[in-house]
Amino acid sequence: MSTATDTKWVYLFSEGSKDLRDLLGGKGAGVAEMTRAGMPVPPGFTITTEACRQYYALGRSFPAGLWDQVAEALARVEEQTGKRLGDERNPLLVSVRSGAKFSMPGMMDTVLNLGLNERTLEGLRALTGDERFALDAYRRFIQMFGKIVKGIDGDLFEEALSEAKARAGVKTDPELRPDQLREVVREFKRIYREHTGEEFPDDPSAQLRAAIEAVFASWNTDRAVAYRRMEKIPDDLGTAVNVQMMAFGNMGDGSGTGVAFTRDPITGARQLYGDYLANAQGEDVVAGIRTTEPISALRTRLPDVYRQFEEYAGKLEKHYRDVQDLEFTVERGKLYMLQTRSAKRTGEAAVNIAVDMVSEGLITKEEAVARVEPRQLEQMIHPRVDPGASANPIGRGVPASPGAATGQAVFDADTAEEWGKEGRAVILVRVETNPNDVHGMIEARGILTSTGGTASHAALVARGMGRPCIVGASEIDVDVRNRQLSVNGTTVRQGEEITLDGTTGNVYLGRVPTIEPKPSGNFRTLLGWADEVRRLEVWANADYPRDAEKARENGAQGIGLCRTEHMFMEEERLPIVRAMIMATTTEERERHLARLLPIQRGDFHGILQAMHGLPVVIRLIDPPLHEFLPNYDDLVAETTELRVTGRDPDKLAELERLMARVEQLREANPMLGLRGVRLSILYPEITRMQVRAIMEAACDLAKQGVDARPEIMIPLVGTLTELRAVKTELEPVVEAVQREKGIQVHYKFGTMIEIPRAALVAGQIAEDAEFFSFGTNDLTQTTFGYSRDDAEGKFIVRYLEKRILKANPFETIDRDGVGRLMELAVREGRATRPDLEVGICGEHGGDPDSIHICHELGLNYVSCSPYRVPVARLAAAQAVVASGATTK
Ligand code: ADP
Ligand code: MG
Ligand code: MG
Repeated sequence: MSTATDTKWVYLFSEGSKDLRDLLGGKGAGVAEMTRAGMPVPPGFTITTEACRQYYALGRSFPAGLWDQVAEALARVEEQTGKRLGDERNPLLVSVRSGAKFSMPGMMDTVLNLGLNERTLEGLRALTGDERFALDAYRRFIQMFGKIVKGIDGDLFEEALSEAKARAGVKTDPELRPDQLREVVREFKRIYREHTGEEFPDDPSAQLRAAIEAVFASWNTDRAVAYRRMEKIPDDLGTAVNVQMMAFGNMGDGSGTGVAFTRDPITGARQLYGDYLANAQGEDVVAGIRTTEPISALRTRLPDVYRQFEEYAGKLEKHYRDVQDLEFTVERGKLYMLQTRSAKRTGEAAVNIAVDMVSEGLITKEEAVARVEPRQLEQMIHPRVDPGASANPIGRGVPASPGAATGQAVFDADTAEEWGKEGRAVILVRVETNPNDVHGMIEARGILTSTGGTASHAALVARGMGRPCIVGASEIDVDVRNRQLSVNGTTVRQGEEITLDGTTGNVYLGRVPTIEPKPSGNFRTLLGWADEVRRLEVWANADYPRDAEKARENGAQGIGLCRTEHMFMEEERLPIVRAMIMATTTEERERHLARLLPIQRGDFHGILQAMHGLPVVIRLIDPPLHEFLPNYDDLVAETTELRVTGRDPDKLAELERLMARVEQLREANPMLGLRGVRLSILYPEITRMQVRAIMEAACDLAKQGVDARPEIMIPLVGTLTELRAVKTELEPVVEAVQREKGIQVHYKFGTMIEIPRAALVAGQIAEDAEFFSFGTNDLTQTTFGYSRDDAEGKFIVRYLEKRILKANPFETIDRDGVGRLMELAVREGRATRPDLEVGICGEHGGDPDSIHICHELGLNYVSCSPYRVPVARLAAAQAVVASGATTK
């Protein structure tokens, strides 16, 4: 029999392990694992994520038994440490830390030094003989408790502290004298009283209870929810709470606190990398308030501690077989380990580390392939500021996340969000960032801060999001109030453009030329391993020969979508296209088409040549014809003006004719109107010309020994009869060209599957189609009955917020609906034609989650933008690894 009270809500660190990550969260599992390994971890316990979920299920109250188990665990910690919570002579102080399954840096807050009140403060002072330290701990506790548990604006405390420092004439808080700190404590309590209407709580047990509840509550703050949405972390996991004896890094120069990565998270170099801050506590390193020293400073300051730390770092990396992000505190020469978790890293570091670890024998090739986040590869092929361009930086800072970005400077997160959502490129400039800035960071192209190091909040979050970032640009004076920055005599106001190079740390005025980087040897090695593992082919979408070349360079195995309408839009061609559309008879239209023929042939010639030996899927004309004509409203305005002024009657007559045609072609719902295959049926001469151009180019190339492999694709088919009608029209053209040229080429004839009916009758359609290509954008629109622009502009965001949709179906294939139609189409299509080639073109083809679905559905290939080809190659391999299907 199991009742709620039987449930184990609380685990001592000595009871947990890394296998309990779901229950204890990443941080709890990490400290438990370090405790088991015999490392010096301050004793403590973890309240499970299940308790958090229950807390919410019960309408925000503790499940039965929880508080009793906390009391029991606390008693054990008191035994272990010989201190007691609230004991006036030997007080136990604890930290209360959040920790979800997936690390959410800076998203949820930690309360340090809990257990202090006027009496335990006295005890702490007497015990340590250090009044300054005791008061410093107390003021920090009031500050954190006030801010995190009670939601008081943290700036109020920071300002009060700054004022105290100014009054005392000192720069940093360790310089404040005890009497001055007492004043700060009094002021902090006053702020607390003013904003909560109550006295600061004295009872340590009440403090603890409130802090635990605050951690539970922090799971559902706006910023936590926003971060989860971005990282696709489910909302229903909950957070664990860790309660742990405090180790004091603020007990003088023999004490301190630090964060370190076991390898360089920016380059992947195999050396300890991090920051150390002497005589400081907790968040000081991360917050970027005081300037830190590199971790190597610890070697000189406290050589024994450094050696010991280095040893633990090495052990932990081996144990987890991954780079660790460590936090530690030194209390009067004694090292305490506070956190180990797998480190966030740049794309470049991820690739280098994965490849290095294979050669070190730590992990297998498959693991290496699974380790690198596919989206991060995009970061590596991001442009960088052209070193050859003679641009002079106006300032520089610490490079914290690579890539170049240009945008308008903004100085607060709200403006960044607002402008970013309007589609403007913005660079967020701050003194430092904190979790309240995340919504703006999401919308920014790049992030610049004047303080903080490589482990600061800004750096961590930017790296996680793949945004270029520069931190600690101390020469730049950021004036948030007046929305401007000044550096070396240059002032940049809000809205002015700047460029960041997160690879070098340079900041430039205006827009600066950028170059595309060359992928490294390790990058190619890793992708080579991915290619060995994956089953899905990766093709690319390319409309022009130069895109096809880029695609091939990046490893594309074919062109999955070559759109022909862009070719029609180009400047010198548009007049011919318009004349063709305006034609009133078929003969007249054919005359204009004859002029287009050699141009189109040239387009196809280039792309088929670039893809020598590989398939090129060419889609015949798709958009409604009015898209090639001028905008109706513009025409109305222009003709009205000409009529009123009476100028240029010839032009007026011409515009009026144009307008009449536009009016004729106007549709209430163009997305569902006369487009795709429907055009081929009404105006067969257009697609006859296109097919002739394709086949002429292919035959000409074949004669020169180039292996051209065109695949002719008909869009928007819904019935077999449509496809058959078009095929009957076009096949004679193919035959005719081959006869005329006296050569046969390898070609295919197929269709897009992009409306639900086509998927439903795929078995019939496959009678005439040699290949299918899922147009998942239109298939998503028509399956949901959403028009994409309207949906994304009006309601998808709300749907995501309200969890009506779990993900934007235009970004990731909707597995349950659209995916089911695809599954059906693949199955029934292949039943009719076993060698049916099936792929997907469109944006989903470059989305890692969608690629997993395509792998599962047994597609032959995905096709994506040339830049995303490496991403797709890796994601396709990961789909195999995830399914456990690798043999090696
Ligand atoms: P985050 O998830 O933001 O890293 P943590 O729970 O790790 O939050 O806490 C933030 C900081 O507080 C850490 O950097 C650590 O230095 C400090 N800290 C947490 N617990 C303790 C403790 N028991 N003793 C000393 N410092 C602590
Ligand atoms: Mg934190
Ligand atoms: Mg931490």
